[in-house]
Amino acid sequence: MLLTMREILNEAREKRYCVAAPNVIDDRSIRAVIRAAESQDAPVIIDISRGGITTEEFYRLAAQSAAAARQTRVPVAVNLDHGKDYQACVEGIISDCSSIMADRSTLSFDENVRQVAELSRIAHAAGKSIEAELGHVGTNVGAEKEIETSAVMKTEADIQAGFTQVDEAVRYVELTQVDALAVAVGTVHGAYPKGMVPKIDFDRIRALREAVSAPLVVHGGSGTSPEDMEKLGPAGITKINLMADMIANGVLYTSRFVSEFEEGYEGLIHASTMKMKQFIDVFYQGFEDKIAEYIRLLGSAAKA
Ligand SMILES: [Zn+2]
Repeated sequence: MLLTMREILNEAREKRYCVAAPNVIDDRSIRAVIRAAESQDAPVIIDISRGGITTEEFYRLAAQSAAAARQTRVPVAVNLDHGKDYQACVEGIISDCSSIMADRSTLSFDENVRQVAELSRIAHAAGKSIEAELGHVGTNVGAEKEIETSAVMKTEADIQAGFTQVDEAVRYVELTQVDALAVAVGTVHGAYPKGMVPKIDFDRIRALREAVSAPLVVHGGSGTSPEDMEKLGPAGITKINLMADMIANGVLYTSRFVSEFEEGYEGLIHASTMKMKQFIDVFYQGFEDKIAEYIRLLGSAAKA
């Protein structure tokens, strides 16, 4: 069923679990997300990024996602990820998305409040929910083209300088009336440099959960250790945005498929249509299996 993020996240906040929010890239990845949620009997949020796609493609992905959501029994919200300006956010509101995220995190506090409060009124009047960001999550080197509103985080000090402050977060939610708040607590968008694991400030999450009335969101969830994934929901995070790890798992599955193909790489490029179909299928199987694994770690399995 298609729900707003507000409905899904308020329940997650109350019951202290975290909902997976994978980005989708096409209709196959939309189906992979829904299948993962169905297999785990879990609520899920489909995030649609505007990075690298036209407005028409965005509308099509939103329509495909909403149609898939209406056809399944598990709760699904469809969300515009990182609406970077007024235009993109209004397009999100008039699309088939049930929710939007307005990212004004690089602006001053007052300007962030001013712009998001206006979008919040429009979204709510249209029956949709809205997420915004306070503090600054930023991106790893290499992912900066994906999220134009995000600055590159190179050092631990950069990451900590962007942390969300508890008192500001309380005021921000009161002034903007957003339904969910993305907070900067140690994660960064995109794949981390090899060997680096994000250091998540769980004390800050717990303090934010106590003080802030809106459900809390973590962006840049890929690369988080399994132990930390399990701790997010109980600490107070209700939604985690994920992308890089699902792509990586799809690539892992396809490279395994190639290495296990008895005629080798050369044989594969001359293979039958059926083999090529299998090759593409295994990518989406990797995408789906990773989401299912995260749903279990995040505590949202059996919560549909
Ligand atoms: Zn993000």
